[in-house]
Amino acid sequence: MKIFLNGELVDEKDAVVSVFDHGLLYGDGVFEGTRVYDGNIAFLEEHIDRLFESAKVLMLDIGMTQEALIQATVDTCKANGIENGYIRHVVTRGIGTLGINPYLCEKSSIIIIAANIKLYPQEMYDNGMRIVTAGTLRNMPEALNPRVKSLNYLNNVMAKIEAINAGVMECLMLNPQGYVAEASGDNVFAVKGNKLMTPPTWCGALEGITRNKVMDLARQMDMEVSETVMTRYELWTADEVFLTGTAAEVIAVSELDKRPIGNGKPGPVTNQLIEAYRKLVVSDGVRINF
Ligand code: PMP
Repeated sequence: MKIFLNGELVDEKDAVVSVFDHGLLYGDGVFEGTRVYDGNIAFLEEHIDRLFESAKVLMLDIGMTQEALIQATVDTCKANGIENGYIRHVVTRGIGTLGINPYLCEKSSIIIIAANIKLYPQEMYDNGMRIVTAGTLRNMPEALNPRVKSLNYLNNVMAKIEAINAGVMECLMLNPQGYVAEASGDNVFAVKGNKLMTPPTWCGALEGITRNKVMDLARQMDMEVSETVMTRYELWTADEVFLTGTAAEVIAVSELDKRPIGNGKPGPVTNQLIEAYRKLVVSDGVRINF
């Protein structure tokens, strides 16, 4: 495998970063996860925009233009023959001292990995997934805004541990006020009649690219789409609940905290959105010309 590292495509074994990199020492950096479908890098511009926004909040200078990063992404996919797969962009603060001062880090490190992807089992798309609410609360925006896709993912890791310990693969996270924020690696939606609802980002959610695309698709289906503050009541009593994310795409939740959602099977709106989303990912994005 060839990895893009600081302007060069290097062999996997040479793709290493320093132990003094603040990405490792402090989780000081940002990342993105993007999918490739049939040679189309889905929504790449949106992902690169979000990467730059996350970096801006952290005052992290990426040191490359968006255009150059898009080109480097295409080149990395080409070099690895990735027609279908998953791309990870990582920008770390770079090499510094053992203190946290980011201004002592001279240059950011830029990494692009284009690889294959391991998906949730098909059975979960057919039957939905069972999830539970984690006791770990989502970070409060005033401390570390969940809109920043930073390398400091311990909040989500803690929640994911709870999910796995409970025998499920994903979990719901609430914010410190007790309102629904998102899942540990996905956004969450509820369907009630013709209404599609998802929490506003200020409740503690990443502004998911999949989330935004699904909201657009639902509007095209003449649904009433809103960002709504929700408690678990709204999810437990919804007709349908589903999660969205680059890796998961759109996936139904069949059960939350042992309460079956609707009739406990993926509902018609979720299924329609799964289908519409799968059509979109092959056309909306940046094409790799092999
Ligand atoms: N929330 C969190 C915490 C995530 O890590 C992700 C995955 N990036 C999402 C939501 C979904 O975002 P996207 O649709 O952009 O992948």
